[in-house]
Parts: sequence; C-alpha cells; structure tokens
Amino acid sequence: MIDLIDKLCREKTLTAEEFVFLIENRNDKYAEILFERARKARKENYGTDIYIRGLIEFSNYCKNDCYYCGIRKSNPNALRYRLSEEEILSCCDKAYGLGFRTFVLQGGEDGHFTPEKMEAIIKKIKSAYPDSALTLSFGEHPRDVYKSWYDAGADRYLLRHETADEEHYKLLHPESLSLANRMRCLWDLKEIGYQVGCGFMVDSPYQTAERIAKDLLFIANFKPDMVGIGPFIPACDTPFSDKLSGSVSLTLYLLAIIRIILPDVLLPATTALATRDSLGLEKGILAGANVIMPNISPKEAKEKYALYEGKRYTDGAAEDALKNLSERMEKIGYKIVTSRGDKKGRIYNV
Ligand code: SF4
Repeated sequence: MIDLIDKLCREKTLTAEEFVFLIENRNDKYAEILFERARKARKENYGTDIYIRGLIEFSNYCKNDCYYCGIRKSNPNALRYRLSEEEILSCCDKAYGLGFRTFVLQGGEDGHFTPEKMEAIIKKIKSAYPDSALTLSFGEHPRDVYKSWYDAGADRYLLRHETADEEHYKLLHPESLSLANRMRCLWDLKEIGYQVGCGFMVDSPYQTAERIAKDLLFIANFKPDMVGIGPFIPACDTPFSDKLSGSVSLTLYLLAIIRIILPDVLLPATTALATRDSLGLEKGILAGANVIMPNISPKEAKEKYALYEGKRYTDGAAEDALKNLSERMEKIGYKIVTSRGDKKGRIYNV
C-alpha cells in the first residue's frame, strides 16, 4: 500500500486496478498518510491560504429531472424562487464589502434566465467589481452560449460530471441527459478558456470502487482547475429519497487523492461535507482542500434551495458568520484571505 501511495505521489495517477485497491484497502493509517502528503502538496502551492467564494443560489427552477436532486422539475414540493437582477447585484455588493473577491452564480437550468439575460448580469457584475472573479454553475448549454458568457467576463464554470461511467450516469439521470453531452460541455468550457470545475458525489447510488477509479482517471486526464466532491445526501421527494448517505471518511480520502493527482487544483471543502459532519470544513481542509464556499444568498433563498435533506449552509452573508469561520480555520493553522483565488499560474479572463 505504501508503495502505491508513493507511486501516486510520483506519477500523479495510477491504473484503474491500483485506484480500486487504494479505495478498497483504505484504513485510518493509510488515510493519515494520504492526508499528510495532500497537505504538503497544498502548502507548496497555496501555503495556508483559504480562498472563499460567495455562493449566490439565484434560481431553484430546473427543467431537468436528475434522480438525486431535490429541485428536480418533478418535485411538486420544492418551493420555487428566483432572484431578480437587483437582488443578485445586492448580494455581490454586500459580499464585496465583507472581502469576497469571487462570486458564484449557481442555479438550476431555468429558462427564465436566457443567455442574453445572463450575459447582461455577467457584464453588470464584472463592471461593478472588476477585481473580482465570476464563476457560473448553471448547467449544460451550447458552446456558443458558453462563449458569449466568457466574452462577457465570466471567469470560471462549475459543472460536475457526476460519474465518468456511462452505465452509472444512466442510473443517476433520465434519458434526456447523457454523459456524452456532459463531457462535450466540459471540453468546450476548457477550450473556450474558462477555469473549469468538475466533480461527483461520493457514495451516490450504484457507485462502486471501479466507478470511482474511472472518475479519478478522468480527473487525471482532464486536469480541471477545480474539483467539487461531497458525500451523497438523499433528498426528500426524489427517487433516491430512501438511499443511504455517503461516507465522510471516504470523501476525505478521495479529497486527498485528488489533491495529490492535481497538486495545484482548487479544491473546496463542500457544503455536503459540512452537512454530514459539523467539523466537515476543518476535516476537508486538513485532507487537502483549499476553498470554502459560504452562502451569500438572501435567507429565504437559502432555505428553499434544498438540493438534499438537512442541507447546512455555511453562512457568508454576515460579518459575524465570516469572523466565526475565520476563527475556526485559524484554530487548525489556516487563514481565510481576501483574494480572487485563481488557480496558481492561470491567466485571468481579461
Ligand atoms: S442536479 Fe442540476 S440539472 Fe439536475 S435537476 Fe438538479 S439542478 Fe437540475
């Protein structure tokens, strides 16, 4: 096992069989070794800095029906909302004053926000805060739409691939969605010039060690700028409402592996991790993560953006909450910084 960890650190990837072995034979001792190596890689690239992103959940309408998602279109009990342009800009304004220099616009695939509307919002945010980065997390779109948003000033795009295994993808999504199109989107985004994030849920239904190995091989090959992973958490009123929640320890183990594969990746300690474990943020950072995404949406929106059961958001809309977060990070030897927090060496979208 130690030989395998050494090989991973040296070569930044393994064979599918070796990844499976690494996953299936994990124990506390090996996890600690991986965490230590991941922290080393993280410190070499980002020191003890933690980047914060102001997350704005601007719409929970969605035309899609992913089986795991609480805001899927077939959920009649989801309380729907969308923020106005003014509300979005007001969130940015408040967050800028608190020290945020990245805003993340995250929403379901809501046709109300046409490409033109999004373009106008992007331009307004970027002209009001030229020293800040703007991340979009708004699903699948044609390449020319992605390009128009990039040209309008968007810097980054998050689009979880969810699984790199064709069969598994079909078990998580309805027929209208395909792995091929998800991959097309990711490659388009990368070619256009975005800093791109992919990712997946840990312990999602029907996931196996073999399927996780495919995710890790995809990540090693695609070389995203960001990777978002968090434990699967079942959502009420969805086909997976009775499935078991994902493992925190496996999530931490995989965070460390991803940090070693891509030493300079932007790696968040996610909301799902914080929901499953009250010390999830600290544990994620100590496993190699370097990003936290506090929620700066209006309070009512936070409550309605119910992707899964018991979602615990990290509040970033208030000075006190941010101070508390800073203190928590300082206790484990890290510090939240005021910075765009780009991936090391990346050229800005200017
Ligand atoms: S996961 Fe995303 S695309 Fe799928 S239903 Fe939920 S919000 Fe829509």
